[in-house]
Amino acid sequence: MTKIDEKLEPILDEVLRRNAGETEFHQAVREVLESLGRVVAKHPDYAENALIERICEPERQIIFRVPWIDDEGRVRINRGFRVQFNSALGPYKGGIRFHPSVNLGIIKFLGFEQIFKNALTGLPIGGGKGGSDFNPRGRSDREIMRFCQSYMLELHRHIGEHTDVPAGDIGVGGREIGYMFGQYKRLTNRYEAGVLTGKGLSYGGSRARKEATGYGATYFVQRMLEKRRLGFEGKRVVVSGSGNVAIYTMEKVLAFGGTVVACSDSGGYVTDEAGIDLDLVKEIKEVRRERISEYARLKGSGAHYLEKGSVWDVPCEVAMPSATQNELSGKDARVLVENGVIAVGEGANMPCTPEAVSVFREAKVLFAPGKAANAGGVATSALEMQQNASRDSWTFEQTEGRLAEIMGNIHDTCAETAEEYGAPDDYVLGANIAGFVRVAEAMRALGVI
Ligand code: NDP
Repeated sequence: MTKIDEKLEPILDEVLRRNAGETEFHQAVREVLESLGRVVAKHPDYAENALIERICEPERQIIFRVPWIDDEGRVRINRGFRVQFNSALGPYKGGIRFHPSVNLGIIKFLGFEQIFKNALTGLPIGGGKGGSDFNPRGRSDREIMRFCQSYMLELHRHIGEHTDVPAGDIGVGGREIGYMFGQYKRLTNRYEAGVLTGKGLSYGGSRARKEATGYGATYFVQRMLEKRRLGFEGKRVVVSGSGNVAIYTMEKVLAFGGTVVACSDSGGYVTDEAGIDLDLVKEIKEVRRERISEYARLKGSGAHYLEKGSVWDVPCEVAMPSATQNELSGKDARVLVENGVIAVGEGANMPCTPEAVSVFREAKVLFAPGKAANAGGVATSALEMQQNASRDSWTFEQTEGRLAEIMGNIHDTCAETAEEYGAPDDYVLGANIAGFVRVAEAMRALGVI
């Protein structure tokens, strides 16, 4: 672990004390504070008026009961969350996650990361995150709808196009956003398209939003490789997960001439000697909503499904972890390095453990942290808000063009900031500092609030 500047140590101690047990939140705060020592050394004024302490404390945290009735007529209870972390740059913005592992600490880590990510996009959006410990797996379409409606019954009091604009995340895709938007519209009697993003195209969604996070992460890594006169062309790529981010990462990797050799879900991973057949993955995951093990069964020869071991055991030159937090351990990182990995791009939020990040750094592997690499999703959400506000609808090419431009700018901002602060090629440092400085400037201007 990198050492934290002694001026910032008491801040971390206080975060650990007052947020006991929230390990993912502690991890996310520690990682940012590790980078900020160089900033306060250069600009001591950023440490005045408890500015850093304020960034670590959410502006508002909402926890609520979500009752719903399953198909057998039984009443079920889940817990709903929305953490409105920081609105210095604009309305809170960040996804909603439905997964049994969700708790306050996970939502706070995601909301905290979101502040800096959103700042990096250069767009006027603050940071927030929400979710529930509801498990959508195996639930019928009607159960999903009833759950989404009940979740929105409480959430609608706290959101709005100028207040807080949620989107999707793990377990929340187009179907769930549709049900939530329908319930919001019914409860408020307002067609307020800008209140949620990730909407369907038939009711105010943006083209390329579905693709944006995966495409954006791939654009970021491509830019990072180009800086070294390299590219995806001819490279073996492993993508973990097989959800929204993973699928569209694979699609762009293929477009850039790479070969995806493995992908996964929480049950195991598949390899395919001929390269992963993305149409088949889409059919299994987006249409049938089945397990990735089906891939090997349907594909037949050359394809294998493995439950034991890790997707990171598969040799590759580029790794794109796109499933969930802490899915790539120090041990996995060492295996990847031994197998000759040259670049890692985090499509998911905080998928690499701190130990894994250290292994990559020491081995001089190009490493794109999630808050920079996966910012394309939220950036395109902000473009969706722009289209909603002007009652306009852009073409796919226009939207993807803006996304590519934004990802290029984020890459360059991170690279230049790292250089300016004496750590060339350290994208973690570059992303943390550049994101922080943008938020800190706005917070200073707004006074102590
Ligand atoms: P999805 O629900 O569409 O897909 C998640 C994928 O990850 C599934 O294949 C899932 O497998 C797998 N997964 C989930 N939990 C685990 C676990 N504990 N171990 C192994 N695999 C797991 O989610 P998204 O693709 O939207 O999100 C993936 C990541 O990207 C998350 O970290 C999210 O926060 C981040 N992200 C998403 C954005 C977006 O626009 N959607 C924007 C920015 C970041 P299974 O089906 O078996 O659970």
